[in-house]
Amino acid sequence: MATTRILLVEDDEDDYVIARDVLEEISFLDIELIRAANVSAAYDYLKQNNFDLCLLDYQLGAFNGIEVLKHARASGFSAPIIMLTGQADSKLDEQALDAGAADYLNKSEIGTGRFIRSIRYALARRDVERERVERLKAEAENESKNRFLAHLSHELRTPLTSILGYTELLLNSDKGAQAAVELDVIYRNGKHLLNLLNDVLDLSKIAADRLEINTSKVDVGSLIVDVYTLLRVNAIDKGLNITLASTTPIPTIITSDSTRLRQIIINVVSNAIKFTDEGEINIALSMDDHAGKEKLCVVVKDTGIGIPADKLEEIFSPFSQVADVISKSVGGSGLGLAISSTLAKMLGGEIVVESKIGEGSRFSIYIDVGDVSNVGREWLRFDKQASTAPKKLEYSLEGKVLVVDDLRDIRSLVGHIISQVGVKAEYAANGARAIAVIESAQQAGKPFDLVLMDIHMPEMDGKQAVTLLRNKGYSLPIVALTAASMRGSYEQLEICGFNGMLSKPVDIDKLFQVLNSYLIRKENAKPPHVSLVAESPAAMPSKSSTELSILLVEDDPDAANAVAELMGHLGAQVSVVNSVKHGCEQLQAKKWDAVLVDKNLTDGSGFSVITKIGEQGVSTYVAVVSGDEISLAAHPELSINEVLLKPLQLSALKQLVANIRGYAGA
Ligand code: ADP
Repeated sequence: MATTRILLVEDDEDDYVIARDVLEEISFLDIELIRAANVSAAYDYLKQNNFDLCLLDYQLGAFNGIEVLKHARASGFSAPIIMLTGQADSKLDEQALDAGAADYLNKSEIGTGRFIRSIRYALARRDVERERVERLKAEAENESKNRFLAHLSHELRTPLTSILGYTELLLNSDKGAQAAVELDVIYRNGKHLLNLLNDVLDLSKIAADRLEINTSKVDVGSLIVDVYTLLRVNAIDKGLNITLASTTPIPTIITSDSTRLRQIIINVVSNAIKFTDEGEINIALSMDDHAGKEKLCVVVKDTGIGIPADKLEEIFSPFSQVADVISKSVGGSGLGLAISSTLAKMLGGEIVVESKIGEGSRFSIYIDVGDVSNVGREWLRFDKQASTAPKKLEYSLEGKVLVVDDLRDIRSLVGHIISQVGVKAEYAANGARAIAVIESAQQAGKPFDLVLMDIHMPEMDGKQAVTLLRNKGYSLPIVALTAASMRGSYEQLEICGFNGMLSKPVDIDKLFQVLNSYLIRKENAKPPHVSLVAESPAAMPSKSSTELSILLVEDDPDAANAVAELMGHLGAQVSVVNSVKHGCEQLQAKKWDAVLVDKNLTDGSGFSVITKIGEQGVSTYVAVVSGDEISLAAHPELSINEVLLKPLQLSALKQLVANIRGYAGA
């Protein structure tokens, strides 16, 4: 039992002895009693503030207990104080309670049940109060840690904007041609730094218990095919064979967090590719029993270097890499599996690994799928012979294609392949955006020749978008980009108004066939070399004739210049100001097509500029640029069209320009 330190302020010897004897009798407390026999001794003890309770006599020679009570509170004494008095007096009682006493007792009550109860309650209240103070302190510490992280993330992303932005600029200019190899190294390392930053932030969110899981309905087939489409390129680059199939039927829709699920699968498959030099990677999906429940199981098997038995557990700890790997300098931070295994647990499952050194590894990712009792199941199968090796086209094509997909990487991969045959690709992230972009292109007299449209997208899916477009009378060709699991439903797509279907993972031959059918052949022009590098920056489009006027409010001059130059190439005239004050002044000066505001500016929050735009009541496209994630739902008072996460790269800026044009034309 912990000792309870009680300070008894009592100048009368007899009263002290009575109180002491009663306190010694209390069985549920181990009491250490300290007596202050006069006011000056009491003040000394109160200052120490290391008691659990104070019993304070009201009549203390020339002083009265109310003065001592006030002094105690003023000097920061935090334990409860019970006032003791010779005679009952309801006015004094009130005064004592007002001055902060926990209770007011007549000395004749000492030794009664009421006295003991009063002590017990006072101590219980003190415990609750202490716990509250501790909790508030911990919350404040956590809050400041979170603010620090958000700030750090913002500060690190801003310089990355300049590094990646200028590198992209040079890579796409004549000036960069002589140093293309070196620039590519800078670009790849900048991207690597960005990935590391994201991993470290994830890990610190996990440590602070702040990582949130947002579950929704997820089409597993589409998700896995998108991941496969992206990573297959890396496997083929290394000469590895990669396959994807399901070994049992899979529910078409599950309940999970699609972003996190994608992150886990990408991490495990990327590792398999990274640690395998020869042979193959097999990805197999199934519904399997795990811990007494049927779960989704994604097995990733490789024929790579394998992991020693004594390291199998260790690889799930942060910053752990099998020593051999470091000396072989494969790269990586050793954070991926630590994050992925925590995420898998948060998604109701886990990651299990089996491995044999020199033979390969097998990672099984188990994920809870929610209630799938009423969901249909399908086998996932993919064309074995889907080609990724680029066919040489003997001619270039002419035209303009809109690529609509919610995943930026898929958009740029498809766009990249398309741009290699001389065709211009533009992008939209969902059906609604696609409609806006298609309509504005039509109005500008430069309609698209072809649209490649993903089916599953947030906000407005591909089917809804096509139905709407056909109802509005648009007859341009639209080809669906769908996961193989959607096969068989082509008739449905035809009824919506699609002209054709390309299944993901996108087969280059088939993509070229589609382009060939809908676009015009440019005679006598040789196509540029077709390469399949997902990460490399897409070709820079030429300037558009109608320039957009954009106000950029950013206080970091390098980041501002990089964005301004990149956007300049995209047909936007960007004016830069570096403060809330100048931003607001510029709003008065003219009407802007769009305003891009950095969230944290030296003289205040970028939101002040947005409030000002709202007050003016003019229609301007508003984008917030930030180093950390912002939830628009948390700022319903602000009219913001989109949030852009730093670093701003060419692909994101292209999308932004398309959005602004769509908005202006709408
Ligand atoms: P990183 O890949 O960035 O080093 P991870 O946390 O993803 O970090 O992986 C931790 C370590 O586990 C790797 O460095 C490697 O030693 C080992 N590892 C992971 N996957 C495989 C695999 N498929 N084959 C062999 N070793 C692996």
